[in-house]
Amino acid sequence: MKPIPFFAIALALAALAPVAQAQDAVLNLYSARHYPSDEALYSGFTKATGIRIQRVDSDDAGILSRLRAEGAASPADVVLLVDAARLWRAEVDGLFRPVKSKVLESAVPAQLRAKTSDEGTPWFGFSTRARVIVYDKASVKKEDVDTYEELADPKNKGKLCIRSGSHPYNLSLFGAMVEHMGPEKTEEWLKGMVGNMARSPKGGDTDQIKGVASGECAIAVTNTYYLARLMRSTNPEEKAVAERVGVVFPNQATWGTHVNVAGGGVAKNSKNTANAIRFLEYLASPEAQNHFANGNNEWPVVPGLKLDNPALKAMTGGSFKSELINISAVGMNQIKVQQMLDRVGFK
Ligand code: FE
Repeated sequence: MKPIPFFAIALALAALAPVAQAQDAVLNLYSARHYPSDEALYSGFTKATGIRIQRVDSDDAGILSRLRAEGAASPADVVLLVDAARLWRAEVDGLFRPVKSKVLESAVPAQLRAKTSDEGTPWFGFSTRARVIVYDKASVKKEDVDTYEELADPKNKGKLCIRSGSHPYNLSLFGAMVEHMGPEKTEEWLKGMVGNMARSPKGGDTDQIKGVASGECAIAVTNTYYLARLMRSTNPEEKAVAERVGVVFPNQATWGTHVNVAGGGVAKNSKNTANAIRFLEYLASPEAQNHFANGNNEWPVVPGLKLDNPALKAMTGGSFKSELINISAVGMNQIKVQQMLDRVGFK
């Protein structure tokens, strides 16, 4: 057998190398984050690591059903979802691969991630949003809406606008109320809210804020970033909407305002867990955490970072008291809550 010349081996290796490298340098991200400002987040990761992100964007339900359909063949490395109820669902369905990361465990507070077992942690929260009450400054007194309980008080009859009770943002808020008040009181409260509605639930959170500004409702429930987006808008009509409404962070005198997470974890069948963990660790970095706050008007999960967002500052006056319950318990309550909604006719 003739010996293979060295240069031939070198050539063959050189031809192979870029392929191997290209495969290593791609991260398949399945993301349900529906925020255009997140582009900066992904390009920041590529810049820092050289790893290109290949993204599948869909809503949460779309991503979950795609992962289930793809099964073991799924190319997904990282799954990002918004809302504790959905993260919990994905965890229960076994769609995450628990990971062990000192970086993530020290950066993300324990109550803002899934429970850690011997295998690791299935998912981590990377940003938070508060679920607050907005009201018509002209007709509603702040004192009449400064607790979640008052949304169901007969004094607020015919005033309330809220999106569908089955939407995960509400399932999580209602699941948190079960933790605070117990199931009986929560069901009574839901029934009271149905009795106070100005209209049957429809639209998203922004539509509820607009409903208050237009006078169709006097009180509404929204996630903070939707209001912040209107406050920071360059569109005069949107700015005017924000100016008409007051905002209250409920339950400051008791258990604190309900706070939800957006987060994610490594996909169960990831072929590239090292890069997947690297991406999650990047999301906990000061650069990415700062993006969540200033790009998408959320709060960082990593404590101690300086917040430089005029809308969030204006809303809270600096800081607010958030509830202290384990966010994974909130997800767990959603089935119970959905049954209550059906019983009280909360659409
Ligand atoms: Fe949202």
